Amino acid sequence: MNHDHEPRRFGFVSVLGAPNAGKSTLVNQLVGTKVSIVSPKVQTTRTRVTGILAEDGAQIVFVDTPGIFVGAKRKLEQAMVKAAWNGAEECERLLFVVDASRRKLGQDAKIVLEGLARLPKTTSKWLVLNKVDTANKEALVVLAALLNEAAEFERTFMVSALKGSGVNDLREAVKASVEQGVWMYPEEVVTDLPNRLLSAEITREKLFLSLHQELPYQLTVETDRFELQKKDNAIKINQTIYVARSGHKGIILGKGGETLKRVGSQARRELETLFERRVHLFLFVKVRENWLNDPERYREMGLEP
Ligand code: GDP
Ligand code: MG
Repeated sequence: MNHDHEPRRFGFVSVLGAPNAGKSTLVNQLVGTKVSIVSPKVQTTRTRVTGILAEDGAQIVFVDTPGIFVGAKRKLEQAMVKAAWNGAEECERLLFVVDASRRKLGQDAKIVLEGLARLPKTTSKWLVLNKVDTANKEALVVLAALLNEAAEFERTFMVSALKGSGVNDLREAVKASVEQGVWMYPEEVVTDLPNRLLSAEITREKLFLSLHQELPYQLTVETDRFELQKKDNAIKINQTIYVARSGHKGIILGKGGETLKRVGSQARRELETLFERRVHLFLFVKVRENWLNDPERYREMGLEP
């Protein structure tokens, strides 16, 4: 269909919810490109990440946020929760994502629900029950009723962000809802995350998937160099993985450096797909004991202290 004669439309939509509800998976599905990293671990997303969709004359900036959770103690965690609420405040529409495979509403989801009431009345709120692929049908209906009683949602959607079911309907509804406006980004742009941050996130995802327990939460990745090389048209990326304890360094390296090597090649392959050219990735590990409380480190991630 040719939409050239129609006025263009533009809008911001934030995606909010408890950790692990599937927010990042949903944003990636809505946009059709992986812009936000995903793992089975909670608190994978640390900062505000956008996924931008441009279709049928409408451009929508989905703002993926870190999960909102109770008891954020460390400065990094507090900054993450703050970033999530800031993400919600800048948008005219909000998607509240709930993991519907859990029979009960978790404490974190309850906190988000309470917070929704404090947002400006002009923010329109939609409920998205996610993970319907593993949810019990009756429990779904009960959950939808319960949530709609607890807050004012204009609409309710049931989706599987992982499998894609229901996501088309949601995407169409969002597209239909945005108002006339000038596009903020060129058509082909899928995120406003700078390449340095985006590539650090990809390495962090591979580390999250490879490492266990507390370790993923005690590391951060920064891109020190990101350069297009003239001689072979490849991108050269240098990154430092900061760990909080010297003992962690050995675990990340693994026996004979194996773990780091595996993480590096997984990240490199994904970076090559993303940037559509060859990538030379060099990873370094450094101990920086107090990085979790160091504002400079999370300013690098796009968080405000
Ligand atoms: P976030 O913390 O809310 O951003 O959640 P993620 O998008 O990182 O997803 C957390 C986990 O839930 C990952 O292991 C996803 O693969 C999984 N997940 C997300 N959406 C679905 C879904 O629709 N169905 C199922 N079964 N798993 C999902
Ligand atoms: Mg996430």
